[in-house]
Amino acid sequence: MVRRALRSRSIKRRQKKMPGGKTKVQYKKKKVSYHKCGNCGAKLNRKRLDILMIKKVSKTKKRAERPYPELCSNCMRQKFKRMIR
Ligand SMILES: [Zn+2]
Repeated sequence: MVRRALRSRSIKRRQKKMPGGKTKVQYKKKKVSYHKCGNCGAKLNRKRLDILMIKKVSKTKKRAERPYPELCSNCMRQKFKRMIR
């Protein structure tokens, strides 16, 4: 039996013939999704990190260093304009 994390059916797998003649199952890595803007849903310029990498990567690489890092730059600008008016 394979390890627990690979038993999910959402992980894509493929039968592959090995040089010795046996067939073996190969597991594909899941695609990593992008962070999305909380307002319009546009892609932000960074991908999601897995749990192990969150500790290793510096804080500045996890989010934008400006107000409202969860929004894209256009939505942030519009929000500021609305606040000023
Ligand atoms: Zn947006």
